[in-house]
Amino acid sequence: MPFPSLRLPGSRSLVLLGLACGLGVAPAQAMQGGFPDYRGPSAEGQRLPDVSEHVDVAWDWVADGFDAVSAGDERRTRGSLERAQEILEEALAANPHSRDAAVGLGIVFFYQSYYVDGRGYPHAIEFLTRILEADPYAVDAARYLANAYAQQGDGRNARYYATYVEAVSTDAELHREMAELVRPFEEAFLDGWYQYADYYDRPEARVTTFNPQTFQVETVVQVTPQFEMSLARQGLAQLGPAGAPAADPELKAYLQRLVDKLQANSLGPPIHNVVEVIDSPEPNAAALPGTILVNTGLVRFAESEAELVAVLAHELGHVYAHHAARLTVSEIRTRMTASALLSLVKVENELYRQLIDIGVDVGVNLLLKGYSRQYESEADRYATHIAFNAGYNPTFMTSLFVRLYQIDPSTPFRLTATHPPTSERIERTTRYLEDFPLDREMQIDSREFTEIRRRLGG
Ligand SMILES: [Zn+2]
Repeated sequence: MPFPSLRLPGSRSLVLLGLACGLGVAPAQAMQGGFPDYRGPSAEGQRLPDVSEHVDVAWDWVADGFDAVSAGDERRTRGSLERAQEILEEALAANPHSRDAAVGLGIVFFYQSYYVDGRGYPHAIEFLTRILEADPYAVDAARYLANAYAQQGDGRNARYYATYVEAVSTDAELHREMAELVRPFEEAFLDGWYQYADYYDRPEARVTTFNPQTFQVETVVQVTPQFEMSLARQGLAQLGPAGAPAADPELKAYLQRLVDKLQANSLGPPIHNVVEVIDSPEPNAAALPGTILVNTGLVRFAESEAELVAVLAHELGHVYAHHAARLTVSEIRTRMTASALLSLVKVENELYRQLIDIGVDVGVNLLLKGYSRQYESEADRYATHIAFNAGYNPTFMTSLFVRLYQIDPSTPFRLTATHPPTSERIERTTRYLEDFPLDREMQIDSREFTEIRRRLGG
């Protein structure tokens, strides 16, 4: 398979000069940890032998290797690339300041991995990384690093070096090449976030039991959107009002529009989430399937619409990940093995009543104590995608966390509940955000947000 997007750097002579070992320095003498030493460009390099002709000859061997690939001659490909490697190693030994020789050798290592033996990539990556450390402007080293990581399926590092290339080079064609290179990784990342899209069809959305009378496995509970919403409604009813509802229909309508926009751009469970605004100064929000509670204090605290969206998206994240249902199912399973619930399988209404009770317990607990560390992380992760999909810059998630943390690192805001610690959450989210293509224009604010904030006196 040819490698169409790659180009050879620098000039290439058309004639094979047949000039090779004339420099008289054995490569082994100048090896550093198995690699020839490269010290970066410097004035000293000017006083050492000029190796540009050798580099040209090496490229001719590389070109010959490419011809051999087209001809399907694997032996010749291997031989030609080995020849190029030898020449470049000698050239670099003679002049350890030659960027062309060093980068050329790194590129040959890459092609050897690509055409001859894929196990060579770590070797190529290590050498190219050393080049870049000694010579941060060796654009082609970064370019082939991006390619090598992409070949290894390492999207994060491929992206890192592609961004590097874009930062140090003004070559538009090279920018396009790098964008092409990382696109599949970006698409896989952006498409692959929602792991619970098929939740209702999974075994974990069901509780089954073996009925010894009929010898059948019977489904005792099947989670459905209606089941989730009824749990949430009863949980909320049991808990009583979370606070006085805010008498501000415009604020409620505005938040509802935001939630609807987020849901419309990230297909999830068929649950319409209704915003309830609570008049409370605490910057907080909570969610159960079908209901998102938002304190007026949160809207005042948010400095941009993107921050507000980050919180709403986080709450939606809990609904998308079916956290309440997943907890309820596991609680039912625990109690079924431990108690007499099993014997109730035949008494359907009584069983149903008890199952609902368990679900309500779970929901009440969630609203009072918050979710587990693992579920909070998952909601954070989902939130970045839900916000991004609706066109918002997801990095505002961390800016909000940071500001909450600055007020008081120990205050257990439910939103940033002590589990996991806010600092850890900031760090994890920041790392995750590195995989987003944030080179597009994204929304941060809106006229509506500014007006709402002014009315609230924030
Ligand atoms: Zn949460």
